[in-house]
Amino acid sequence: MKIAVIGTGYVGLVAGVCFAEMGNAVICVDTNAATVGKLRKGQSPIFEPDMDELLARNIAAGRLSFTTQAREAVDGADLAFICVGTPPRDRDGEPELSLVYGAAKDIARAMTGPLTVVIKSTVPVGTGDAVEEIIRRTRPGAVVSVASNPEFLREGSAIDDFNRPDRIVIGVEDLRAQETLQRLYLPLCAAGAPLIVTRRRTSELTKYAANAFLATKISFINEMADLCEKAGGDVTELAAGIGLDERIGRAFLNAGPGYGGSCFPKDTCALLHTAQEYGVPLRVVEGTVAANNARKHRMAIKVMKAAGGSVADMKIAVLGLTFKPDTDDMREAPSIPLIRHLQRAGARIAAYDPQGIRQAREHLSDVDFHDDPYECARDADVVVLMTEWDEVRTLDLARLNRVMHTPTMVDLRNIYAPELVRRFGFRLAGIGRPATP
Ligand code: NAD
Repeated sequence: MKIAVIGTGYVGLVAGVCFAEMGNAVICVDTNAATVGKLRKGQSPIFEPDMDELLARNIAAGRLSFTTQAREAVDGADLAFICVGTPPRDRDGEPELSLVYGAAKDIARAMTGPLTVVIKSTVPVGTGDAVEEIIRRTRPGAVVSVASNPEFLREGSAIDDFNRPDRIVIGVEDLRAQETLQRLYLPLCAAGAPLIVTRRRTSELTKYAANAFLATKISFINEMADLCEKAGGDVTELAAGIGLDERIGRAFLNAGPGYGGSCFPKDTCALLHTAQEYGVPLRVVEGTVAANNARKHRMAIKVMKAAGGSVADMKIAVLGLTFKPDTDDMREAPSIPLIRHLQRAGARIAAYDPQGIRQAREHLSDVDFHDDPYECARDADVVVLMTEWDEVRTLDLARLNRVMHTPTMVDLRNIYAPELVRRFGFRLAGIGRPATP
């Protein structure tokens, strides 16, 4: 099939290369000329495992190309995927949909034959109706179907997630769109991926419900961690104790500094905004968001406590900045409020991250960035383990101790066993388990 993909960020680029790898002819569009210029040379603007190889192979095979002009991509296409960003518009969580509507107009002006327009961006319920209305108004009489196909991939394993999804959800209002999408996804379904077909509105809501549920698991275990700390329990053991119950499941029960990234904070707030519009209270999701917001402050207090009560004039080394490993995405990373809080309290911050430093510079100032964890920790009073990159999981603790001024570790991901850290001479504060002397 001939496919146009509008937007080449984490979602659009992954979808584009994977559809091309399945044998489709894919043209990706991005309004950012610098991004398109890099992509044409086979350079990915995002860090994602296996991306470079897939880009090179599909460009060379002539199945994948890039343009800044929607017209070039949409002309003669069977499908056009909208994969542009939907960032929060303001503090009340309402998503900014102007990029989605702009893409819809671009597609409408450029389409030359029957077309299925598929919204892959995460959009509030009813956006598909609005997109359809825009296209019909811009191109009266055009043969067009508008479908919803939310994306569930995780940054850091995006290509694998796309190719081996737990499920594919398509929301359609007509048989033509359903059959076109079923044909497109046949290779993944043949390999075992379940395909759920719903009406468009259900599909739009499904994406938000999934993210809100996962965020709720995280806030739940984080609050259990707080209780463990006070009551003398160990949250890692507790998580194993409940997670082996199949009705609960062990995934997303790792206590930590709170959820971040470009999706959970934005999508939980957007869902609350939708709920307010429809007058339906979502108390559980409200609690999830409130608990996560409060957590940012608590993590800074934890570091200050570990430092002896104050971090004024101390050097704090933060190892890992991105919201999770294997991505360079710094959007809503919990490291940002933590570092700002510690800076306000008078700390000097040094930070290390294997991939995130370029993006981190856009969010943080007065930080001494390093590409080596031991240089970062040199003469530090406290080291904070923020993101569980492999490089942070496999630290040489003896060397870390030697370079530090005071061997105090705050392990916000519970990476290291307390006995081990103690054996290497560190004072340790973890999450949801008793602090070691
Ligand atoms: P992103 O910001 O990384 O990328 C969006 C791209 O779209 C940018 O490169 C931008 O230049 C381009 N763009 C904007 N307007 C355009 C237009 N009119 N024509 C062509 N290109 C245009 O965003 P992302 O992280 O890929 O997310 C995209 C959507 O997918 C969002 O709604 C997001 O919530 C959702 N989503 C993201 C993830 C994730 O892990 N990042 C996962 C699932 C769903």
